[in-house]
Amino acid sequence: MIMKHHKYLIVGGGMAADSAIHGIRQIDQDGAIAMICEERHPPYDRPPLSKALWKGTPYESIWRNEHGLNVALHLGKKIVALDAKKKTASDDAGNVYTYEKLLLATGGRPRRFPEFDGNIIYYRTVDDYRKLRELSEHGQDFIVIGGGFIGSEIAAALAMNNKRVAMVFPENGIGARVYPAPLVEFLNSYYREKGITLHTSETVASTRTEGAKTIVTTSNGAEISADGVVAGLGIQPDTELAAQAGLSVDNGVVVDELLRTSDPDIYAAGDVANFYNSLVDKRTRVEHEDNANVMGETAGRNMAGESNAYLHLPFFYSDLFDLGYEAVGELDPRLEVVEDWQEPFRKGVIYYLRDGRVRGVLLWNTWGQVAAATELIGENAVHTSETLAGRISD
Ligand code: NAD
Repeated sequence: MIMKHHKYLIVGGGMAADSAIHGIRQIDQDGAIAMICEERHPPYDRPPLSKALWKGTPYESIWRNEHGLNVALHLGKKIVALDAKKKTASDDAGNVYTYEKLLLATGGRPRRFPEFDGNIIYYRTVDDYRKLRELSEHGQDFIVIGGGFIGSEIAAALAMNNKRVAMVFPENGIGARVYPAPLVEFLNSYYREKGITLHTSETVASTRTEGAKTIVTTSNGAEISADGVVAGLGIQPDTELAAQAGLSVDNGVVVDELLRTSDPDIYAAGDVANFYNSLVDKRTRVEHEDNANVMGETAGRNMAGESNAYLHLPFFYSDLFDLGYEAVGELDPRLEVVEDWQEPFRKGVIYYLRDGRVRGVLLWNTWGQVAAATELIGENAVHTSETLAGRISD
């Protein structure tokens, strides 16, 4: 058995993990760092996989840069056991690592259909991107399952690359869990105009292969044939190690404002971490890039001795054909919604309110206003459609 000691052990190799390394190195230039990453690739930016790489941005641009930071990268290895008392972690190759501070940046695993796994790409990693890219070089017909972030972005990406796309999802429209109903209706017709077939309020009943084709049968009995099937059904936070180590787990790994888990030498950050956010006054788990970056960096700095409370309200963004937006806070169409369009569905700001207070802001084709939107949420004042009209614009 090989024992390796590192002052800092990073479990995971995504954006939060990489940001933590940069955070540590801002404070501690010498302490030994090891990163254990199940994927065989060093850290990369995930957002381009469903956006920029389909619009001509070069593949090489996704890689993040730990060069010169003196990190021992252990790729293709998975930590399978964590002993918080002994401060040891073991990987699936039999290596045992000891640590002073450990970060759980294990992210999430794509939800799958348990009954039929076959040819579906559950889209999350750079390998998934490469698989889909290869299929798209030969095939013309694609099925996209799910109408959330992955589904809406990948369907647009494939259509922009002249593929025929059919979408299948249980909601009545694209992004229905995020956008208010009129915008969802607009998106449905926009996607249809772009040639995408929508199977709304449906799921997948079965799949089978016929030669190189995959045939999907929907819950309404429709049969669709494709050269590739890609799905975004949401993710489940990867809390297995934390639970096994006896850490507090509740919709993710529970952390305090310094991003410590229930063990003070183990931190968590990114998609897996459940934190209290004072601006929206509740515990939350955020599955977006900005949260991974800022939370990861904060965790790294704290692991190296600082005490920075994580008070950041993360923003996120999306690209759907030539439509795009930035957004911050809670985007739940079940809240009271105030729409302030400059040009209907093309440019405007949508406010989401609870008890009259702004909890989320969707900046539809409205740029450079994330700070103003965050400030508005922080003010916590009571608003109406009258007081919000024209409040934010670019
Ligand atoms: P999501 O939560 O956005 O969407 C999940 C979707 O799964 C649902 O909207 C639904 O349409 C679909 N679904 C659920 N059960 C289904 C079923 N039985 N049949 C068919 N469809 C079903 O999750 P995602 O799109 O998979 O994205 C994964 C993660 O990546 C999320 O955490 C997301 O926030 C993140 N992501 C973010 C961005 C961004 O910020 N722009 C982009 C891509 C991915």
